[in-house]
Amino acid sequence: MSDQVSKSLHARAQARIPGGVNSPVRAFRAVGGDPVYIARGEGPYLYGADGARYIDYVGSWGPMVLGHANPAITRAITDAAALGTSFGAPTEREVLFAEALCETVPGVEMVRLCSSGTEACMSALRLARGFTGREKIIKFEGCYHGHADFLLVKAGSGLATMGVPDSAGVPASVAANTLTARFNDLASVEALFAAHPDSVAAIIVEPVVGNMGCVAPREGFLAGLRALATRHGALLVIDEVMTGFRLGRSGASGRYGVVGDLITMGKIVGGGLPLAAFGGRRDVMERLAPLGPVYQAGTLSGNPVATAAGLAMLEQLTPGVYAALEDIGAALEAGFREAAAAAKVRVCVQRVGAMWTLFFGVDAVTDWQSASASDTARFATWHRAMLARGVYLPPSQYEAAFHGVLHDATVVAETLRAAREAMAEVAAR
Ligand SMILES: *Cc1c(COP(=O)(O)O)cnc(C)c1O
Repeated sequence: MSDQVSKSLHARAQARIPGGVNSPVRAFRAVGGDPVYIARGEGPYLYGADGARYIDYVGSWGPMVLGHANPAITRAITDAAALGTSFGAPTEREVLFAEALCETVPGVEMVRLCSSGTEACMSALRLARGFTGREKIIKFEGCYHGHADFLLVKAGSGLATMGVPDSAGVPASVAANTLTARFNDLASVEALFAAHPDSVAAIIVEPVVGNMGCVAPREGFLAGLRALATRHGALLVIDEVMTGFRLGRSGASGRYGVVGDLITMGKIVGGGLPLAAFGGRRDVMERLAPLGPVYQAGTLSGNPVATAAGLAMLEQLTPGVYAALEDIGAALEAGFREAAAAAKVRVCVQRVGAMWTLFFGVDAVTDWQSASASDTARFATWHRAMLARGVYLPPSQYEAAFHGVLHDATVVAETLRAAREAMAEVAAR
């Protein structure tokens, strides 16, 4: 869609903001064309700066499970803001929010609030190192845990989209303590433990990966990680920044019946405001300052407006929401499969609940190796064809798409109509 307002804003942005964006994947580099500048969102829709309407399957990269401008969240934000936007002192809402997370997320006995998923993962791993007295971390190729130096190693989506395997500016000495294993491959994890005895502080994992596109854990994979971590005296850190409150009220942990020693959360928990958290075992969390020697802090942590939005979000996440998300997901999945089959386009539709990805040119994706075999040029054609029909998808093969509860039958039907035409366009290339 050639949108003159976005084009001219993007030209100005590029003069003053590197690449014109404040987070790299927003730049649409992987799919070509300029990003759409957004004026407002309402329910399942985004409205571009030129007024065009899009069905939104990015959902601010996860948080918008109840749609944009949810009335209760908006009211909570404005009410809280009127009473002051930040105090740097404790508030009742932080207590309520911490209690809500501990009641809901398996394994969370105590939490610390922060402002981004990056902070949550970085802090959880510092805590794991402080608790165990060990320095090495095991992560999986293609998993993203925010942009802390030591986590920018084989970190999936953003980096893969940019064609940068690892970031510049990360000292080799820092990256050396990050060991990488293959997702869905327990033997690769066992081999790392064997090669580095008594030196691994933690395994960190996206329980369902979103950051190489949607990839589900094999049966027994998460339970296997749990057992390996325990056997080797390492902590299991489950990164639920994307999956938390998306794959169910108790996240992927509840869905797959696995309990982490530490769990990180973000995205949905803040209702669209900067709010994240990490929590877990009491004996581990009590090592945090001011109780223990592991330092972690934040001027805006537990911000009163953000916690108001988060509480208003959590209150609305009833079992009915998750049933609806599943139904909508199933309808989209079936429709995409039919559209691809009708156009004879080789595509693999992977979905867990309300997160999904269409991988082009491959039959199954189980890890980074298989994800990176997909046909990104075909994905780019698909992305442009859908955007031209008013459907806003993540601008990268390696990012999961998200729907919310307001993607009702009408919205799904409109999406699938666009998908049938777009698949025909992909087939014609
Ligand atoms: C988005 C994401 C992060 C980073 O969160 P930010 O709020 O962007 O810093 C960490 N882990 C996972 C799994 C994510 O999807």
